[in-house]
Amino acid sequence: MRTDQCKLLIIGAGPGGYVCGIRAGRLGVDTIVVEAAKPGGTCLNIGCIPSKALIHAADEFARARAFADENELGIRSQDAKIDLARTIAWKDGIVDRLTAGVSGLLKKAKCRFLAGRATIIDGKTVDVTTADGLVRIRTETLVIATGSAPFELPMLPFGGNVISSTEALSLDAVPARLAVVGGGYIGLEIGTAMAKLGARVTIVEAADRILPQYDAELTKPVSARLAELGVSVHLSAKAIGIAPDDEALRVATPDGETTVQADKILVTVGRRPATQNFGLEDLSLRMNGDFIEIDDRCATSMRGVYAIGDVTGEPMLAHRAMAQGNMVAEIVAGERRSWDKRAMPAVCFTDPEIVVVGDLPDRVPGAKVTSFPFGANGRALTMERSDGLLRIVSDPNSELVLGIQAVGVGASELAGEFALAIEMAATLTDIADTIHAHPTLGETVQEAALKGLGRNLHI
Ligand code: FAD
Ligand code: NAD
Repeated sequence: MRTDQCKLLIIGAGPGGYVCGIRAGRLGVDTIVVEAAKPGGTCLNIGCIPSKALIHAADEFARARAFADENELGIRSQDAKIDLARTIAWKDGIVDRLTAGVSGLLKKAKCRFLAGRATIIDGKTVDVTTADGLVRIRTETLVIATGSAPFELPMLPFGGNVISSTEALSLDAVPARLAVVGGGYIGLEIGTAMAKLGARVTIVEAADRILPQYDAELTKPVSARLAELGVSVHLSAKAIGIAPDDEALRVATPDGETTVQADKILVTVGRRPATQNFGLEDLSLRMNGDFIEIDDRCATSMRGVYAIGDVTGEPMLAHRAMAQGNMVAEIVAGERRSWDKRAMPAVCFTDPEIVVVGDLPDRVPGAKVTSFPFGANGRALTMERSDGLLRIVSDPNSELVLGIQAVGVGASELAGEFALAIEMAATLTDIADTIHAHPTLGETVQEAALKGLGRNLHI
């Protein structure tokens, strides 16, 4: 067995692990990142980037199809066709560019990358099974960044026509009929894209509305657009199994059992942390449910062992994992750091997109809530969309902005402004008196702030 040693060993090269590795390397910490699959983790290989590539392709295709008919823009296009295998090859090209970029950045930071599967022996010793045999690594500090995997429903095990997001993002043809179990982030993002690509999509959601963690005001425009796209949505409905012929999903609804005909069944009912089968249990770390418990420095209950990213709980988002990875690298390099973030943006790339930052209205009784419709924003109208709204939640006495949310075309790109406002403790006046360029979607933020101050302009 070969042996090696380092100051910092990171298991997992997803957004949490690779960012931790790059930052630690740049700070001069002798670091090794171990990865069983490809650098970039779920996000770059089978998550954020592939799904956004598919969503973009689906939007372009839907647009091209719309121009085959008479339309107000006066554009005429030929009969549009989609070659999904080619789309997927294009997506794979983007993924390859980004994962190669991560490898290059790790190298440049002088962070060593070891391809192989890690097994924890104790808090300072990890065995890695590589293509060239077993390597035992001794480390001063260990970071667990092993991410998450899709939940599997016992009555709908993955295999055959029952697929997870990973397979859905690499199909070589659009299924004629797609059943989606779970109307959360992944089900809605991929389900909408598949509907635009021509699949007949049915969404089965256990709660009484899609994206149940958000309020109906935010999800209503998304529901309306799903209906426009011909997507059927069963609410308060649970998947209970597959019909014997394998071509239908059995669903329990408040009105009794029904079936949904499907060529593929996509199961997206959440993700579970990757905490098993690599010796983690033997460390007997304090857990928070299925997740690893951490403090405000991402330290676990064992000295010298940190955990970051999806393995530490909700929200399971790439930018949270990256921020944690950055912080832990600085702590290991000797800096005094702790988690001090006020804002954690969350974006659902539905149609229209939903952005949520800070407090929702129902979380702050007595808060002032002011909204501005996208239908009164010139830029949105030039993009042929008038659905959606922007909403600011603020303290009625101090004017302090507590939360900003939006649902509307292009809303994802506003997430940075929302987060900055909350992180910098902006007031309604700060936002109202900041000149926003015209015509842009960002003017909705200024307009909502003006309205909150009783200085309404375009409404
Ligand atoms: P991961 O990215 O899961 O990386 C963990 C890595 O650890 C993996 O590469 C794995 O191979 C490796 N590993 C595990 N065990 C071992 C072991 N024993 N030895 C060696 N290596 C190991 N988030 C967003 O913020 N925006 C989005 O738009 C978005 N879209 C998504 C779309 C989909 C379809 C999915 C599935 C997820 C999406 N997410 C999105 C969530 C995002 O991908 C995750 O939050 C993020 O990847 C978590 O990063 P991580 O570093 O914690 O773990
Ligand atoms: P989710 O938690 O967003 O949604 C799961 C949905 O499935 C819920 O609405 C739940 O009520 C429903 N459900 C559960 N069991 C069910 C059953 N038996 N029948 C019918 N419905 C059922 O989970 P997800 O969509 O799998 O995504 C996992 C995580 O990945 C998210 O929490 C998010 O953190 C991350 N993600 C983020 C993005 C993004 O940032 N844009 C995109 C995709 C995924």
